[in-house]
Amino acid sequence: MDINKVGVVGGGIMGHNIAILIARERKVPVVIKEANSDLAVATIAKVHAHFDVRLGNGKYSRAEVEMGKALITATDSFDDLKDADLVIEAVTENMAIKKEIFSTLDAILAPHAILASNTSSLSIAELASGTKRPDKFAGLHFFNPPMKMPLVELVRTPQTSKETLETLQNFTESLGKTIIRVADVPGFLVNRLLLPYLNTAAKFLETTALTPEQIDEAAMNAGWPVGPFLLMDFVGIDVGAAVAEVLYKGYGERMKPSEILRLMVVNKRFGKKNGIGFYLHETEGTPIADLLKQNFPNRANGNADEAVKTMMLEMALEAKRCVTEGVADENDIEIGCALGIHFPDGHGGPLGWGRENGLFS
Ligand code: NAD
Repeated sequence: MDINKVGVVGGGIMGHNIAILIARERKVPVVIKEANSDLAVATIAKVHAHFDVRLGNGKYSRAEVEMGKALITATDSFDDLKDADLVIEAVTENMAIKKEIFSTLDAILAPHAILASNTSSLSIAELASGTKRPDKFAGLHFFNPPMKMPLVELVRTPQTSKETLETLQNFTESLGKTIIRVADVPGFLVNRLLLPYLNTAAKFLETTALTPEQIDEAAMNAGWPVGPFLLMDFVGIDVGAAVAEVLYKGYGERMKPSEILRLMVVNKRFGKKNGIGFYLHETEGTPIADLLKQNFPNRANGNADEAVKTMMLEMALEAKRCVTEGVADENDIEIGCALGIHFPDGHGGPLGWGRENGLFS
């Protein structure tokens, strides 16, 4: 199926960047639907700023900028999306809001049109359930920032048709992205594998005297581009804790969020975004060592290399469960971890690493 016009609902961090990516790579009209007219005006200003900055620094030619600006429009009316062949939803992570949007879209779009959600954690099947086109519904999980991150998870439900998956795969690959196909399970693939790794790192802070700096350094020595605590500070600990809750609900005890994550949220240590997380970024504040001493007074000595090995072991075991459950095929798991979370080179991915370390054959 040809995609000649795309709608994007939600012009936030993800939505407006996905719109720019599509206009730039596919040269088709993209309409961004925002919650009200002020937000639509603000969204188009962000889009124009993107092009103006890159015209200024020579990244785009004048013709590219003019074309990009002409192709992308923003609106507060669903009516402007009714002739779209594909609509990608990227609004606030809230099931009720998203379901209402999909129900409205389902009623106005042509029968052939495909609906996709960029949700990080909500069930695609439940989002699709309020529409009469669950066969034309899938998850299209871009990573942040969508223009730079090469990976997209294409999330299927049992009802998503083969044709819909093929159309979305072709379309997304034509944006220059690598697709991995994933089942509709909590956390999909990449977040499901990342969480046990991060959660295990956090548990080491509670049980041993190891510091975030020591564990981060050991992770980088093992080939990770950034350590788990700095990564959590960059992603946002409030966002990470919300995803951790979704996984705990989905998988039970083995994904139980560490107590320190909860304490970080209670103490408003959200990470880089508010200047204080596992690290002190810009502001003055209580060092993490004080919080740990106060809440976990009986910590034993620890070995940072062993901690990182245990974190990777938990990830590898979860990857093996994904194979057994048919969540994704082996190749997609390895590619997803290389492109989505920069799993250290030289092992293939968590499954290869698990085999090297004798966890499974
Ligand atoms: P955001 O808060 O930056 O943007 C959400 C946008 O949705 C806002 O601009 C808001 O005005 C708009 N919105 C809310 N209700 C609306 C409505 N009824 N109609 C139209 N627009 C509406 O959020 P974000 O970070 O861009 O995340 C959007 C989605 O992408 C979420 O589902 C999130 O889980 C997912 N996601 C986010 C990231 C990330 O790192 N930020 C990564 C992958 C996926």
